[in-house]
Amino acid sequence: MKLWTSCINCAEKIHFSEWVNDRVELSMSKGRELKLTCKACNTQGAYNVDDIYAKGSKLTQILALTILVIGTPVTFYFLWDYFFLTAYVYIIAGISGMLVVPATVYLTIIKNEEARIRRFNSHRTKGYNA
Ligand SMILES: [Zn+2]
Repeated sequence: MKLWTSCINCAEKIHFSEWVNDRVELSMSKGRELKLTCKACNTQGAYNVDDIYAKGSKLTQILALTILVIGTPVTFYFLWDYFFLTAYVYIIAGISGMLVVPATVYLTIIKNEEARIRRFNSHRTKGYNA
């Protein structure tokens, strides 16, 4: 996930990505201290995993938004013919329900991402012996 911390020298944000879900996994794969180099001032520093924070990935937001923006009209397009094939109100209601599928997928992706970020940022590794 997308991670960041503030530079010890200039306080500029240092961004990087790791395939981890929380700080425990981060400390297991990288150690308790991470060596990071600031792009703004070129200072290399050691950062405790508890000082590393997660943030939302733009790619995930774009992906979720794409599903919503493209998925809804595409679903509508494929369901359009069925609206006229049936006069049963329950079937029409069911077909209409399909239209919220892209919106549901969108919300699920966004909510999962938020939950992951919250979990990462709330769990500190203090007292944890990796
Ligand atoms: Zn710096």
